[in-house]
Order: sequence, then structure tokens, then C-alpha cells
Amino acid sequence: MTEHWIALTDLPATGREFSFADQSMWQEGWRSFGMEMVLHRPLEATFTVTPHRDGFLIRGTLCGAVRTPCHRCAEDAILIVEHTIEEFEAVADALENEGEISHLRPLDRGFALDVAGMLWEQFILALPAKILCTESCQGLCPICGANKNIESCSCQAETQLSQALRSRGLSTP
Ligand SMILES: [Zn+2]
Ligand SMILES: [Zn+2]
Repeated sequence: MTEHWIALTDLPATGREFSFADQSMWQEGWRSFGMEMVLHRPLEATFTVTPHRDGFLIRGTLCGAVRTPCHRCAEDAILIVEHTIEEFEAVADALENEGEISHLRPLDRGFALDVAGMLWEQFILALPAKILCTESCQGLCPICGANKNIESCSCQAETQLSQALRSRGLSTP
């Protein structure tokens, strides 16, 4: 997984704004996690890092769009990403060797932040449980595999008929 470190030294108390638009890290992440995704619109992040006594507050947005198979019909679905980043990186997590995963690394003076790792985690948080091509996607017929958005099949009707007949002690011819 790509890492991209930025030094968080000499941050003003009000925070400093960063932006990240390197698209290659997304492709590498999808490849290494076996996710079938391609960029539809660049994924761009803008965020402010504010220093606190015990860590850094990161607030901003991650926006763009990716193309990925619909969970129901496997045709292309466009996933619009409009994600709010609200994340606290605790200094204590960075200094411990085990336990919490941290995107911070201590420098001689101050800390560095792995922007790629932090944004990857935000991207995963932004993914919905089900990605659909349309809200009303009919999916594939579990019996014959027909894409019910573009063709109809009679499997469901036949199953209902045979169930009805069976319940009356009859069987389909
Ligand atoms: Zn679909
Ligand atoms: Zn069918």
C-alpha cells in the first residue's frame, strides 16, 4: 500500500490546509485489495490539520466518483463519493508499538502524517454497504441468471406455480 508522508511541523494553532489529488494511490489500493474499481471522476481530498496537545485533528472532504460493479446485477454502477473527513490522530497511538493503528510517525521534531493511509481509511468508511447501479435495480434472476433490469424471465412465475400445485398435492407436468 502506498504511503505518502507529510511533516506536521510548525503548524499554526488554527491549523494548516492540505490537499491531495494523487490518483495513483487509489488504483494501487484497489489492486492490492482486489476491489473492482476504476476512477470515474478524480478523488480529491482537502483537509485542515489542527495541532492539539495530545494529537492532530483532521477535518475536510474527500470527493470524486468511482465505477464499480453493482452488488445486485454486476453491471457498472457509479459511486459518488462525498465524504466528510473528521478524524483525530492521537500522539499516544503513534508512540505505542502495538494496539491502535496510527497514521502518525514521530520525527526528530514533531510528527509526520501518512496522508495516503489516512485517506484510504476514509475511502473505506465512505463505501456504502451495498453499491447499486440504481436504487431500484432488480438484480439477476437467482435461477437463470437473467439481468432483470433488461429482460424478464418466467422462473419466478414457474416457481410460484409449482409451489401452488405442490401445496394442493399436485405436481407440475
Ligand atoms: Zn444493478
Ligand atoms: Zn430466471
